[in-house]
Amino acid sequence: MVKLIVGVLGLQGDFREHLWALQKLQVEAIVVKTVEDLRKVKGLIIPGGESTTIGRLARMTGIADELKKRVSEGMPVYGTCAGMILLAKKIANYPTQYSFSLMDITVERNAYGRQVESFEAALDIPAIGGTFKAIFIRAPKIVECGKDVQILATYDGSPVLVQQDNLLAGSFHPELGEDLRIHQYFLRMVGVKYASVC
Ligand code: GLN
Repeated sequence: MVKLIVGVLGLQGDFREHLWALQKLQVEAIVVKTVEDLRKVKGLIIPGGESTTIGRLARMTGIADELKKRVSEGMPVYGTCAGMILLAKKIANYPTQYSFSLMDITVERNAYGRQVESFEAALDIPAIGGTFKAIFIRAPKIVECGKDVQILATYDGSPVLVQQDNLLAGSFHPELGEDLRIHQYFLRMVGVKYASVC
């Protein structure tokens, strides 16, 4: 049986920060490292990290196939940074790299510069009620979006937060700031209750 638990894919990357964000919002959350863990959750966050490593481990553990099945059944998934790369149908500059290929977007890895060129930007995100301070770290750029993809925020003319049905993806890292409104937005997609004050 699938209970109202939210998972954070914990194969590699900054999954602990997402877990803390969910805990601050008083949501029951677990780290997903196996197919059995994945079967317990009603929604999943794929964190930032190395998309090649996360993709490889997801295939080795069987999580990749289970994830694709659950998404086709309607499970909400939120991919941040490397997580967004893994959701994308196409990776423009690494065309042979593995991805779950679930969202009709084309991304370019590391398009916003190297680690030392990380930056913060104030984004206007009407869907969460206003300005959001976004942190970009070796972030992927969305270079193409299909017609079913809704653009929730742009930076410098490019989409940086997008949604396609039960899938949400962003170039930046909301788990590294204090503002949890994007996590709350995702929790509304999952249908999980959360604390309003954090
Ligand atoms: N550059 C990483 C990748 O391509 C993503 C960076 C991140 O998740 N902060 O996998």
